[in-house]
Amino acid sequence: MDYEHYFTKRIADLKSEGRYRVFADLERQKGRFPIALNYRDGEVREVVVWCSNDYLGMGQHPDVIAAAHEALERCGAGAGGTRNISGTNHYHVLLEEELASFNAKEASLLFTSGYVANQTALSTLGATIPGCVVFSDELNHNSMIEGIRHGRSDKHVFRHNDPEHLEQLLSAYPKETPKLVAFESVYSMDGDIAPIAEICDVAEAHNAMTYLDEVHAVGMYGSQGSGVAERDGVRDRITIIQGTLAKAVGVVGGYIAASASCVDYIRSFGPGFIFSSSMPPATAAAALASIRYLRAHPEIRDKHQERAATAKRLLSERGIPVLPSVSHIVPVMVGNAALCKQASDLLLNDHGIYVQPINYPTVPVGTERLRITPTPLHDDSMMAHLVESFCAVWDQLDLHKAHHPKSIK
Ligand code: PMP
Repeated sequence: MDYEHYFTKRIADLKSEGRYRVFADLERQKGRFPIALNYRDGEVREVVVWCSNDYLGMGQHPDVIAAAHEALERCGAGAGGTRNISGTNHYHVLLEEELASFNAKEASLLFTSGYVANQTALSTLGATIPGCVVFSDELNHNSMIEGIRHGRSDKHVFRHNDPEHLEQLLSAYPKETPKLVAFESVYSMDGDIAPIAEICDVAEAHNAMTYLDEVHAVGMYGSQGSGVAERDGVRDRITIIQGTLAKAVGVVGGYIAASASCVDYIRSFGPGFIFSSSMPPATAAAALASIRYLRAHPEIRDKHQERAATAKRLLSERGIPVLPSVSHIVPVMVGNAALCKQASDLLLNDHGIYVQPINYPTVPVGTERLRITPTPLHDDSMMAHLVESFCAVWDQLDLHKAHHPKSIK
Protein backbone atom coordinates (compact mmCIF):
# COMPACT_ATOMS: atom_id res chain seq x y z
CA MET A 1 0.00 0.00 0.00
CA ASP A 2 1.13 3.56 -0.71
CA TYR A 3 0.44 4.88 2.79
CA GLU A 4 1.13 8.53 2.02
CA HIS A 5 -1.25 8.41 -0.93
CA TYR A 6 -3.92 6.79 1.22
CA PHE A 7 -3.63 9.41 3.99
CA THR A 8 -3.70 12.30 1.52
CA LYS A 9 -6.69 10.91 -0.36
CA ARG A 10 -8.75 10.42 2.80
CA ILE A 11 -7.99 13.96 3.93
CA ALA A 12 -8.88 15.32 0.47
CA ASP A 13 -12.25 13.53 0.75
CA LEU A 14 -12.90 15.21 4.08
CA LYS A 15 -12.04 18.59 2.58
CA SER A 16 -14.33 18.12 -0.40
CA GLU A 17 -17.20 17.21 1.95
CA GLY A 18 -16.55 20.36 3.99
CA ARG A 19 -15.78 18.20 7.05
CA TYR A 20 -12.06 18.83 7.39
CA ARG A 21 -11.35 20.19 10.86
CA VAL A 22 -9.42 23.42 11.12
CA PHE A 23 -8.53 24.50 14.64
CA ALA A 24 -8.79 28.15 15.59
CA ASP A 25 -5.38 29.10 17.02
CA LEU A 26 -6.32 30.97 20.20
CA GLU A 27 -4.62 32.60 23.12
CA ARG A 28 -6.98 32.79 26.05
CA GLN A 29 -5.78 35.60 28.25
CA LYS A 30 -6.15 35.66 32.01
CA GLY A 31 -9.07 37.84 33.08
CA ARG A 32 -10.28 38.66 29.55
CA PHE A 33 -12.54 35.70 28.74
CA PRO A 34 -14.64 35.48 26.53
CA ILE A 35 -12.25 37.68 24.54
CA ALA A 36 -9.22 35.84 23.16
CA LEU A 37 -6.47 36.46 20.63
CA ASN A 38 -6.75 34.55 17.36
CA TYR A 39 -3.57 33.84 15.37
CA ARG A 40 -4.49 33.60 11.70
CA ASP A 41 -2.69 34.16 8.38
CA GLY A 42 0.26 35.78 10.10
CA GLU A 43 -1.94 38.23 12.00
CA VAL A 44 -3.26 38.41 15.55
CA ARG A 45 -6.85 39.54 16.04
CA GLU A 46 -9.19 39.80 18.99
CA VAL A 47 -12.24 37.57 18.85
CA VAL A 48 -15.17 36.90 21.15
CA VAL A 49 -15.32 33.17 21.87
CA TRP A 50 -18.93 31.91 21.71
CA CYS A 51 -18.34 28.15 21.68
CA SER A 52 -16.23 27.44 24.72
CA ASN A 53 -17.09 24.61 27.07
CA ASP A 54 -15.55 26.69 29.86
CA TYR A 55 -19.26 27.36 30.37
CA LEU A 56 -18.89 29.60 33.41
CA GLY A 57 -15.48 31.12 32.73
CA MET A 58 -14.00 29.32 35.75
CA GLY A 59 -10.77 28.61 33.89
CA GLN A 60 -10.00 32.30 34.37
CA HIS A 61 -11.37 32.70 37.89
CA PRO A 62 -8.90 34.35 40.34
CA ASP A 63 -9.48 31.66 43.03
CA VAL A 64 -8.72 28.91 40.53
CA ILE A 65 -5.61 30.59 39.17
CA ALA A 66 -4.33 31.34 42.70
CA ALA A 67 -4.85 27.72 43.76
CA ALA A 68 -2.95 26.46 40.71
CA HIS A 69 -0.08 28.88 41.40
CA GLU A 70 0.15 27.89 45.02
CA ALA A 71 0.19 24.16 44.25
CA LEU A 72 2.75 24.67 41.50
CA GLU A 73 5.01 26.45 43.97
CA ARG A 74 4.54 23.76 46.62
CA CYS A 75 4.67 20.63 44.48
CA GLY A 76 6.24 21.45 41.11
CA ALA A 77 4.92 20.50 37.70
CA GLY A 78 4.13 16.80 37.48
CA ALA A 79 2.63 14.21 39.83
CA GLY A 80 5.54 11.84 39.38
CA GLY A 81 3.84 8.61 38.43
CA THR A 82 0.70 6.55 38.25
CA ARG A 83 -1.53 6.75 41.30
CA ASN A 84 -0.18 3.41 42.54
CA ILE A 85 3.51 4.15 42.02
CA SER A 86 4.29 7.45 43.75
CA GLY A 87 1.80 9.56 41.75
CA THR A 88 -0.83 10.13 44.44
CA ASN A 89 -0.46 13.70 45.60
CA HIS A 90 -2.36 15.03 48.61
CA TYR A 91 -4.32 17.33 46.25
CA HIS A 92 -5.71 14.23 44.50
CA VAL A 93 -6.89 12.90 47.84
CA LEU A 94 -8.52 16.20 48.78
CA LEU A 95 -10.17 16.50 45.37
CA GLU A 96 -11.57 12.97 45.54
CA GLU A 97 -13.02 13.72 48.99
CA GLU A 98 -14.55 16.93 47.63
CA LEU A 99 -16.02 15.18 44.57
CA ALA A 100 -17.57 12.46 46.72
CA SER A 101 -19.27 15.01 48.96
CA PHE A 102 -20.19 17.22 45.95
CA ASN A 103 -22.05 14.27 44.41
CA ALA A 104 -23.48 13.00 47.74
CA LYS A 105 -21.70 9.67 47.22
CA GLU A 106 -19.39 7.70 49.51
CA ALA A 107 -16.36 7.91 47.25
CA SER A 108 -14.98 9.22 43.99
CA LEU A 109 -12.11 8.44 41.62
CA LEU A 110 -10.12 10.83 39.43
CA PHE A 111 -9.09 10.20 35.84
CA THR A 112 -6.97 12.30 33.50
CA SER A 113 -10.07 13.20 31.45
CA GLY A 114 -13.80 12.65 31.32
CA TYR A 115 -13.19 10.55 28.23
CA VAL A 116 -10.87 8.19 30.11
CA ALA A 117 -13.34 8.05 33.01
CA ASN A 118 -16.14 6.83 30.72
CA GLN A 119 -13.94 4.56 28.66
CA THR A 120 -12.38 2.93 31.72
CA ALA A 121 -15.40 2.65 33.99
CA LEU A 122 -17.75 1.28 31.33
CA SER A 123 -15.27 -1.14 29.77
CA THR A 124 -14.23 -2.42 33.20
CA LEU A 125 -17.81 -3.06 34.32
CA GLY A 126 -18.79 -4.67 30.99
CA ALA A 127 -15.70 -6.86 30.86
CA THR A 128 -15.46 -7.99 34.47
CA ILE A 129 -19.04 -8.57 35.66
CA PRO A 130 -19.91 -12.05 34.36
CA GLY A 131 -22.87 -11.98 31.95
CA CYS A 132 -23.37 -8.22 32.26
CA VAL A 133 -25.63 -6.66 29.60
CA VAL A 134 -25.26 -2.95 28.83
CA PHE A 135 -28.13 -0.69 27.70
CA SER A 136 -26.96 2.51 26.06
CA ASP A 137 -28.85 5.63 24.93
CA GLU A 138 -28.49 6.02 21.16
CA LEU A 139 -27.01 9.52 21.48
CA ASN A 140 -24.39 8.63 24.08
CA HIS A 141 -21.00 10.26 23.68
CA ASN A 142 -18.20 8.50 21.85
CA SER A 143 -16.30 7.90 25.11
CA MET A 144 -19.22 5.86 26.45
CA ILE A 145 -19.64 3.98 23.18
CA GLU A 146 -15.94 3.12 23.11
CA GLY A 147 -16.03 2.00 26.74
CA ILE A 148 -19.05 -0.22 26.13
CA ARG A 149 -17.43 -1.66 22.98
CA HIS A 150 -14.22 -2.47 24.77
CA GLY A 151 -16.17 -4.21 27.54
CA ARG A 152 -17.33 -6.72 24.89
CA SER A 153 -20.45 -7.61 26.85
CA ASP A 154 -23.83 -7.96 25.17
CA LYS A 155 -25.34 -4.55 24.54
CA HIS A 156 -28.53 -2.90 23.41
CA VAL A 157 -29.08 0.65 22.22
CA PHE A 158 -32.31 2.28 23.38
CA ARG A 159 -34.04 5.13 21.58
CA HIS A 160 -32.89 8.51 22.80
CA ASN A 161 -34.43 9.52 26.14
CA ASP A 162 -37.05 6.79 25.76
CA PRO A 163 -37.72 4.90 29.03
CA GLU A 164 -40.45 2.83 27.36
CA HIS A 165 -38.04 1.45 24.80
CA LEU A 166 -35.52 0.81 27.56
CA GLU A 167 -38.23 -1.08 29.47
CA GLN A 168 -38.92 -3.29 26.43
CA LEU A 169 -35.25 -4.13 26.03
CA LEU A 170 -34.68 -4.77 29.74
CA SER A 171 -37.70 -7.00 30.08
CA ALA A 172 -36.17 -9.53 27.66
CA TYR A 173 -33.77 -10.53 30.46
CA PRO A 174 -34.40 -12.24 33.77
CA LYS A 175 -34.07 -10.09 36.87
CA GLU A 176 -30.92 -11.99 37.95
CA THR A 177 -28.99 -10.99 34.80
CA PRO A 178 -26.53 -8.22 35.68
CA LYS A 179 -27.42 -5.05 33.77
CA LEU A 180 -26.09 -1.55 33.33
CA VAL A 181 -28.02 1.40 31.88
CA ALA A 182 -25.71 4.14 30.54
CA PHE A 183 -26.97 7.61 29.62
CA GLU A 184 -26.23 11.33 29.85
CA SER A 185 -28.08 14.12 31.62
CA VAL A 186 -27.57 17.09 29.26
CA TYR A 187 -26.93 16.06 25.64
CA SER A 188 -24.40 18.55 24.41
CA MET A 189 -25.34 18.91 20.75
CA ASP A 190 -29.14 19.29 21.02
CA GLY A 191 -29.20 20.64 24.57
CA ASP A 192 -31.98 18.30 25.68
CA ILE A 193 -32.12 16.67 29.12
CA ALA A 194 -32.76 13.04 30.07
CA PRO A 195 -35.84 12.00 32.08
CA ILE A 196 -33.56 10.67 34.81
CA ALA A 197 -36.26 9.68 37.32
CA GLU A 198 -38.21 7.72 34.68
CA ILE A 199 -35.08 5.93 33.53
CA CYS A 200 -34.30 5.07 37.17
CA ASP A 201 -37.87 3.74 37.64
CA VAL A 202 -37.36 1.33 34.75
CA ALA A 203 -33.80 0.39 35.73
CA GLU A 204 -34.78 -0.30 39.34
CA ALA A 205 -37.70 -2.48 38.27
CA HIS A 206 -35.18 -4.70 36.45
CA ASN A 207 -32.45 -4.51 39.09
CA ALA A 208 -30.11 -2.69 36.68
CA MET A 209 -27.26 -0.40 37.68
CA THR A 210 -27.37 3.15 36.31
CA TYR A 211 -24.43 5.12 34.91
CA LEU A 212 -25.03 8.83 34.34
CA ASP A 213 -22.67 11.12 32.40
CA GLU A 214 -23.14 14.63 33.84
CA VAL A 215 -20.29 16.14 31.80
CA HIS A 216 -22.43 18.97 30.38
CA ALA A 217 -24.23 19.62 33.67
CA VAL A 218 -21.49 19.68 36.31
CA GLY A 219 -21.26 23.12 37.88
CA MET A 220 -24.45 24.28 36.17
CA TYR A 221 -27.46 22.39 37.58
CA GLY A 222 -28.59 21.64 41.13
CA SER A 223 -28.39 23.98 44.10
CA GLN A 224 -24.70 23.18 44.69
CA GLY A 225 -24.03 22.53 41.02
CA SER A 226 -23.26 18.80 40.91
CA GLY A 227 -25.62 18.24 37.99
CA VAL A 228 -29.15 17.45 36.84
CA ALA A 229 -29.43 14.44 39.17
CA GLU A 230 -29.00 16.86 42.08
CA ARG A 231 -31.54 19.29 40.58
CA ASP A 232 -34.03 16.43 40.17
CA GLY A 233 -33.31 14.96 43.64
CA VAL A 234 -32.34 11.55 42.25
CA ARG A 235 -28.63 11.21 42.98
CA ASP A 236 -29.22 8.34 45.41
CA ARG A 237 -30.90 6.41 42.57
CA ILE A 238 -27.85 6.59 40.27
CA THR A 239 -25.22 3.89 40.80
CA ILE A 240 -22.35 5.82 39.19
CA ILE A 241 -22.25 9.55 38.44
CA GLN A 242 -19.53 10.51 35.96
CA GLY A 243 -18.30 14.03 35.24
CA THR A 244 -15.54 16.22 33.87
CA LEU A 245 -13.33 18.90 35.37
CA ALA A 246 -12.74 20.38 31.90
CA LYS A 247 -15.99 22.14 31.12
CA ALA A 248 -17.79 24.30 33.70
CA VAL A 249 -15.11 23.51 36.31
CA GLY A 250 -12.68 25.15 33.87
CA VAL A 251 -9.62 22.90 34.29
CA VAL A 252 -9.11 19.32 33.00
CA GLY A 253 -9.70 15.78 34.28
CA GLY A 254 -12.62 13.43 34.87
CA TYR A 255 -14.20 11.49 37.71
CA ILE A 256 -16.73 8.94 38.80
CA ALA A 257 -18.60 9.10 42.11
CA ALA A 258 -20.37 6.07 43.60
CA SER A 259 -20.48 3.78 46.63
CA ALA A 260 -17.15 3.04 48.30
CA SER A 261 -17.14 -0.55 47.05
CA CYS A 262 -17.99 0.39 43.47
CA VAL A 263 -15.26 3.04 43.34
CA ASP A 264 -12.79 0.63 44.93
CA TYR A 265 -13.71 -1.96 42.28
CA ILE A 266 -12.97 0.38 39.35
CA ARG A 267 -9.84 1.66 41.10
CA SER A 268 -8.66 -1.93 41.42
CA PHE A 269 -9.66 -3.32 37.99
CA GLY A 270 -9.75 -0.30 35.61
CA PRO A 271 -6.72 -0.28 33.26
CA GLY A 272 -7.21 3.38 32.18
CA PHE A 273 -6.93 4.34 35.84
CA ILE A 274 -4.22 1.94 36.93
CA PHE A 275 -1.75 2.30 34.06
CA SER A 276 -1.84 6.05 33.39
CA SER A 277 0.07 8.80 35.22
CA SER A 278 -2.05 11.02 37.41
CA MET A 279 -2.93 14.66 36.75
CA PRO A 280 -0.49 17.36 37.91
CA PRO A 281 -1.07 18.53 41.51
CA ALA A 282 -1.65 22.11 40.32
CA THR A 283 -4.47 20.83 38.09
CA ALA A 284 -6.08 19.02 41.01
CA ALA A 285 -5.69 22.09 43.22
CA ALA A 286 -7.29 24.33 40.58
CA ALA A 287 -10.23 21.94 40.14
CA LEU A 288 -10.68 21.76 43.91
CA ALA A 289 -10.82 25.55 44.21
CA SER A 290 -13.25 25.75 41.30
CA ILE A 291 -15.64 23.17 42.75
CA ARG A 292 -15.57 24.82 46.17
CA TYR A 293 -16.43 28.13 44.52
CA LEU A 294 -19.20 26.62 42.39
CA ARG A 295 -20.81 24.89 45.38
CA ALA A 296 -20.97 28.18 47.28
CA HIS A 297 -22.16 30.40 44.40
CA PRO A 298 -25.54 29.41 42.99
CA GLU A 299 -25.93 32.91 41.49
CA ILE A 300 -23.41 32.04 38.77
CA ARG A 301 -25.82 29.31 37.62
CA ASP A 302 -28.77 31.74 37.54
CA LYS A 303 -26.78 34.24 35.50
CA HIS A 304 -25.65 31.50 33.11
CA GLN A 305 -29.22 30.33 32.48
CA GLU A 306 -30.35 33.91 31.95
CA ARG A 307 -27.61 34.53 29.35
CA ALA A 308 -28.48 31.33 27.46
CA ALA A 309 -32.21 32.15 27.51
CA THR A 310 -31.50 35.69 26.29
CA ALA A 311 -29.36 34.45 23.38
CA LYS A 312 -32.05 31.95 22.35
CA ARG A 313 -34.77 34.59 22.51
CA LEU A 314 -32.87 37.32 20.66
CA LEU A 315 -31.72 35.01 17.85
CA SER A 316 -35.16 33.39 17.44
CA GLU A 317 -36.86 36.80 17.31
CA ARG A 318 -34.70 37.62 14.27
CA GLY A 319 -35.57 34.36 12.49
CA ILE A 320 -32.32 32.54 13.21
CA PRO A 321 -33.23 28.81 13.56
CA VAL A 322 -32.37 27.95 17.15
CA LEU A 323 -33.16 24.35 18.07
CA PRO A 324 -35.56 24.45 21.04
CA SER A 325 -33.21 23.46 23.86
CA VAL A 326 -34.11 23.19 27.53
CA SER A 327 -30.53 23.69 28.67
CA HIS A 328 -27.76 26.29 28.42
CA ILE A 329 -26.77 25.08 24.94
CA VAL A 330 -27.90 27.14 21.95
CA PRO A 331 -27.72 25.06 18.74
CA VAL A 332 -28.31 27.07 15.54
CA MET A 333 -29.20 24.74 12.68
CA VAL A 334 -27.62 25.05 9.24
CA GLY A 335 -28.14 21.54 7.84
CA ASN A 336 -25.19 21.48 5.44
CA ALA A 337 -21.51 20.95 6.24
CA ALA A 338 -20.05 23.34 3.66
CA LEU A 339 -22.49 26.15 4.52
CA CYS A 340 -21.87 25.61 8.20
CA LYS A 341 -18.13 26.05 7.66
CA GLN A 342 -18.70 29.14 5.48
CA ALA A 343 -20.95 30.71 8.09
CA SER A 344 -18.38 30.06 10.79
CA ASP A 345 -15.57 31.53 8.61
CA LEU A 346 -17.59 34.67 7.89
CA LEU A 347 -18.42 35.15 11.57
CA LEU A 348 -14.74 34.87 12.45
CA ASN A 349 -13.23 36.87 9.60
CA ASP A 350 -15.78 39.66 9.24
CA HIS A 351 -17.32 39.90 12.70
CA GLY A 352 -14.70 38.75 15.21
CA ILE A 353 -17.04 36.03 16.48
CA TYR A 354 -15.71 32.54 16.99
CA VAL A 355 -18.26 29.70 16.76
CA GLN A 356 -16.83 26.40 15.55
CA PRO A 357 -18.91 24.52 12.92
CA ILE A 358 -20.23 21.16 14.15
CA ASN A 359 -20.36 18.55 11.41
CA TYR A 360 -20.68 14.77 10.96
CA PRO A 361 -19.72 12.52 12.76
CA THR A 362 -20.26 14.72 15.83
CA VAL A 363 -23.86 15.25 14.62
CA PRO A 364 -25.83 13.35 11.92
CA VAL A 365 -25.47 14.47 8.29
CA GLY A 366 -28.11 17.12 7.48
CA THR A 367 -28.11 18.49 11.04
CA GLU A 368 -24.86 20.47 10.85
CA ARG A 369 -24.98 23.42 13.17
CA LEU A 370 -23.30 26.28 14.96
CA ARG A 371 -23.37 25.52 18.66
CA ILE A 372 -23.36 28.65 20.78
CA THR A 373 -22.51 28.48 24.48
CA PRO A 374 -23.17 31.81 26.19
CA THR A 375 -21.44 32.27 29.54
CA PRO A 376 -22.12 34.64 32.45
CA LEU A 377 -19.23 36.73 31.07
CA HIS A 378 -20.89 37.52 27.72
CA ASP A 379 -22.35 41.00 28.30
CA ASP A 380 -25.29 42.71 26.59
CA SER A 381 -23.18 44.48 23.99
CA MET A 382 -21.48 41.18 23.01
CA MET A 383 -24.92 39.62 22.79
CA ALA A 384 -26.24 42.41 20.52
CA HIS A 385 -23.17 42.06 18.30
CA LEU A 386 -23.69 38.28 18.11
CA VAL A 387 -27.27 38.69 16.95
CA GLU A 388 -26.47 41.37 14.33
CA SER A 389 -23.57 39.28 13.03
CA PHE A 390 -25.68 36.13 12.70
CA CYS A 391 -28.35 38.10 10.83
CA ALA A 392 -25.72 39.53 8.44
CA VAL A 393 -24.22 36.09 7.74
CA TRP A 394 -27.65 34.51 7.30
CA ASP A 395 -28.48 37.18 4.69
CA GLN A 396 -25.11 36.92 2.98
CA LEU A 397 -25.29 33.13 2.57
CA ASP A 398 -29.04 33.13 2.04
CA LEU A 399 -29.39 30.66 4.86
CA HIS A 400 -33.00 31.58 5.54
CA LYS A 401 -33.86 29.21 2.68
CA ALA A 402 -31.52 26.44 3.86
CA HIS A 403 -33.06 23.24 5.09
CA HIS A 404 -32.90 23.08 8.83
CA PRO A 405 -35.11 20.60 10.64
CA LYS A 406 -36.91 21.84 13.76
CA SER A 407 -36.01 18.67 15.58
CA ILE A 408 -33.51 16.04 14.61
CA LYS A 409 -34.96 13.19 16.62
N1 PMP B 1 -18.90 12.86 27.92
C1 PMP B 1 -19.48 13.78 27.13
C2 PMP B 1 -20.97 13.77 27.00
C3 PMP B 1 -18.70 14.74 26.46
O1 PMP B 1 -19.28 15.65 25.67
C4 PMP B 1 -17.30 14.73 26.62
C5 PMP B 1 -16.37 15.76 25.98
N2 PMP B 1 -16.75 16.41 24.91
C6 PMP B 1 -16.75 13.75 27.43
C7 PMP B 1 -17.56 12.83 28.06
C8 PMP B 1 -15.27 13.67 27.64
O2 PMP B 1 -14.89 14.59 28.63
P1 PMP B 1 -13.43 15.25 28.63
O3 PMP B 1 -13.45 16.40 27.68
O4 PMP B 1 -13.21 15.62 30.05
O5 PMP B 1 -12.48 14.17 28.17
